[in-house]
Amino acid sequence: MIVLIFIFGLVIGSFLNVCIYRIPRGKSIVYPPSSCPVCGARIKWYDNIPVLSYILLEGRCRSCKSKISPVYPIVELLSAIYTVLVYLKFGLTVDFTFYLIFGYMLIVGSFIDLFHYIIPDGISLGLAFIGLLFGLYKHALVHSIVGFAFGFVLLLFVAILGKAIFKKEAMGGGDIKLLGALGTFVGIKGVLFTLFVASLFGSFVGIILMALGKVSMSQKIPFGPYLSLSAIIYIFVGVHIIAKIYGF
Ligand SMILES: [Zn+2]
Repeated sequence: MIVLIFIFGLVIGSFLNVCIYRIPRGKSIVYPPSSCPVCGARIKWYDNIPVLSYILLEGRCRSCKSKISPVYPIVELLSAIYTVLVYLKFGLTVDFTFYLIFGYMLIVGSFIDLFHYIIPDGISLGLAFIGLLFGLYKHALVHSIVGFAFGFVLLLFVAILGKAIFKKEAMGGGDIKLLGALGTFVGIKGVLFTLFVASLFGSFVGIILMALGKVSMSQKIPFGPYLSLSAIIYIFVGVHIIAKIYGF
């Protein structure tokens, strides 16, 4: 069963790659079939097998030999590992379905943010909509609405404060909408946990990159991936840690 779930995750990961590449370019995610972005050659089905084709082709296009980004197999593996983890935690339940969509949308949003410094509304607001449905099914709709409002207002406040102190945009509108969307799934406690852990991760990575001379103080650093990863950590372990420490 785990092998089947893993393969399912790989196949979905392959589709997530299509979304990551096409959504920011305003292209359809269903048509046309994949082609090499350098030479335009159609990618045959046997060259489009997740991870395996990348290894067999040694990371190069079959027709023009230009390099294929290692991000493709990385996204496929991430998707597969995430799918198995959600299966192990939730089994084949309705929760499983919701948390899969949750993670898949976050993978797409995070990689788009990494490459383009934007989080499309289709991802953040789309996720918020799914989260409202999940709230309706799981607790009560109000739980998700409060989660959205709390995440949105909290990060809006941080953004305004950051702008007043640093005299420049510290937090983008995409991040604000994303934390709201995450709030529909994780609620108020989850939003606080997510923002706290994401800030720790973000500062840690930022300091390392600055020490290595890879980025400067004024450079933009996408925050979406940190928020996404932290919300996923909350769902798997954070919720239990908070329950243990604070008893709620
Ligand atoms: Zn090519």
